[in-house]
Amino acid sequence: MKRVDVVVIGGGAAGLSFGCSLADTKLNVLILERQSLKDIRSPQYDGRDFAITHHSKKVMQELGLWERIDSSEIAPLEAAKVVDGASDYTLAFDTHGRAVNELGYLISNHTIRQAIYDQVVEANNVEVQAECEVTGLSTDDQGALVTLASGEQIEAEMVVSADNRFSSTRRMMGISAEMFDFGRTAIVFRANHQRPHQQTAWECFRYGRTLALLPLNGDRASVVITVPTSQADRYLNMEPALFNATIAEGLGGQFGEMELVGQRYAYPLVAVHANRLHSTRFVLLGDAAVGMHPVTAHGYNLGLRGQASLAKRMKQAIANGEPFYAEPVLQHYDHRQQLASRPIFHGTNAIVRLFTNETLPAKLLRKAALRFGNHFPPVQWGIIHKLTEVGGMSGLSLPKLDTLPSFSKIPRYSVR
Ligand SMILES: Cc1cc2nc3c(=O)[nH]c(=O)nc-3n(C[C@H](O)[C@H](O)[C@H](O)COP(=O)(O)OP(=O)(O)OC[C@H]3O[C@@H](n4cnc5c(N)ncnc54)[C@H](O)[C@@H]3O)c2cc1C
Repeated sequence: MKRVDVVVIGGGAAGLSFGCSLADTKLNVLILERQSLKDIRSPQYDGRDFAITHHSKKVMQELGLWERIDSSEIAPLEAAKVVDGASDYTLAFDTHGRAVNELGYLISNHTIRQAIYDQVVEANNVEVQAECEVTGLSTDDQGALVTLASGEQIEAEMVVSADNRFSSTRRMMGISAEMFDFGRTAIVFRANHQRPHQQTAWECFRYGRTLALLPLNGDRASVVITVPTSQADRYLNMEPALFNATIAEGLGGQFGEMELVGQRYAYPLVAVHANRLHSTRFVLLGDAAVGMHPVTAHGYNLGLRGQASLAKRMKQAIANGEPFYAEPVLQHYDHRQQLASRPIFHGTNAIVRLFTNETLPAKLLRKAALRFGNHFPPVQWGIIHKLTEVGGMSGLSLPKLDTLPSFSKIPRYSVR
């Protein structure tokens, strides 16, 4: 039977990044991924262009990932604007008077994954095993046992699961999660447009649907249209000329004519937060720990933060001669990550709930929220700080977990 120090389940952006973080240790790391090696080696564009925060850029630089990405693949995000309903009134964010020139950067998911894979395969102590599905997992004080669909079994000192928001291993370990099904689907694609975006992101909370434009380099953007899932097929199959016109109109006509580039991709929107992020010799990472609604662009950013925090604490333990899988090590990661994730998770869900509510009181509140944001600079700066993580999260005062609001109106399931 194969025996390693750490098994990572899931070779997505979070799992592979964690492999990179452990590359400078003596730990023997095995990443298990059900996709084919070809798909991991050369990931294809999947419609997702990520807004990357300043903190994530720093982590990516430390891991040697940033340098691997061609600068033409990185688009600076200099400003963001939010509009509501049919009104032209705009809540604006920019870096004017701040220490940085950009709010963040846009990079496609497949470009990031390519950089992470190219980095991780250079590590002598990290192995990526493709085309293997984990079907069984158990841990106790002595170690962990992972079973694959092929029947192969692997022993490890510790297991880290980064196997997506619907994590089967989270269930196997009996860890419950809060799940919010928004009943909506995000349709994502790239588009060329007639008038320049000036590196400004737009979030248009129209009635019935939400449109977001994320500026790439040149007169090209990544566009996200969020609609009730019952209407998703209509948008996915809409004839291109009509689709282009619908998008141009939804964005208020300010970019002139729009032209769909390539394919449309659909992502049903379900947000998940595990109720604890660790168990005996077991840790949840990435979307398996916290799967965010994409409107505040925090999923991968949180995953990257989490893996860095876990790797750092494990390395400290090793330096102190303690076991890297000891309960205080895992507990420390769990606590720190939840402190960062819970306010963002619940804040994001509250924004989504408000800006998809079309009752009269909600419409009035939506308008008031935009004006409040514009007229109170500390609020605006607080939001910028939260969204971009300029200077990391350390300067922020995070609310205590037990003071967070409950969002009872969003369909909510407890999953085991
Ligand atoms: C439309 C959209 C826009 C987004 N925009 C942003 C953004 O701007 N900024 C941002 O930070 N985030 C964004 N996100 C979130 C981001 O996509 C995720 O947070 C991130 O991709 C999660 O990575 P992960 O590695 O945790 O999970 P995944 O990418 O889901 O990877 C999990 C991996 O585990 C493997 N796996 C699953 N089960 C098993 C098993 N049993 N055995 C073996 N392997 C298994 C899967 O094959 C997969 O490769 C967006 C998401 C969406 C949908």
